[in-house]
Amino acid sequence: MSAELKDKVAVVTGGNSGIGLATAEKLVAAGAKTVIVGRNRTTLDQAVAALGENASAQQADVSDTGALQEAFSAIARAHGKIDVLFVNAGVAEFSPIGEVAEDHFDKLFDINVKGAYFTIQSALDHIADGGSIVLTSSVVNELGLPGSSVYSATKAALRSFVRALAAELAPRGIRVNSVAPGLTETPLVGKLGLAPEEIEAFGAQVAAKAPTGRLAKPGEIANVATFLASPQSSYVNGAEFAVDGGFAQV
Ligand code: NAD
Repeated sequence: MSAELKDKVAVVTGGNSGIGLATAEKLVAAGAKTVIVGRNRTTLDQAVAALGENASAQQADVSDTGALQEAFSAIARAHGKIDVLFVNAGVAEFSPIGEVAEDHFDKLFDINVKGAYFTIQSALDHIADGGSIVLTSSVVNELGLPGSSVYSATKAALRSFVRALAAELAPRGIRVNSVAPGLTETPLVGKLGLAPEEIEAFGAQVAAKAPTGRLAKPGEIANVATFLASPQSSYVNGAEFAVDGGFAQV
């Protein structure tokens, strides 16, 4: 993958943490000028310092369409065009249906679904023909996992966006795919709304069911996201790649 993306411009939402940060590292290593988008100025600055001179940051909340438009206009002014868009920012909170409040439902759909959709819309005029859009979905979008009804539905919506947009953007040669991680060791796991012992039990349950026998490292998801971003995946379109150690595959 070395220098595969030389002189390309990549944008990673949620690039200041977890899977997004690990992918930004690989995109920079592949030669791309990489812009990370996130909410928190302090962690954005820390991530840019760690990523080095080919990285920069734009602060935006992806659930705020005005902020997205400003961020992508600024990226276009600085870089001229975007070749790779990694639509990765997201939140995960689990709750049984009887305890789901309206604001839980709205927050997850605002960030994960509306945020992803308008990230793509705001970037679209700036994406070069032949570009690649990659979304972070989740293998839970095709599982029936108790407590995950709202979160899983947000990720199922992304799977549907991938299919429709791959067809719609084909005339511009823009490919649209998604990476669907299984349970991955990132800060998100601590924010699921589960007690520490519940997280441990959930992790053990997932690891036991996955043939690979453990949880994913962020870099393992980033490898596949970077593959989907690069010309190496030139004949992959409208697809979702599960990276779950086999958890949802067997
Ligand atoms: P993380 O918490 O480390 O990273 C999430 C990133 O999204 C952070 O940078 C956060 O600031 C950003 N973000 C959240 N809301 C935002 C908003 N409104 N505006 C801008 N940025 C926002 O978690 P992660 O595990 O790296 O998650 C990345 C993606 O992977 C998410 O879409 C998540 O749903 C998905 N995913 C994670 C797992 C897992 O087990 N960790 C599994 C499947 C899918």
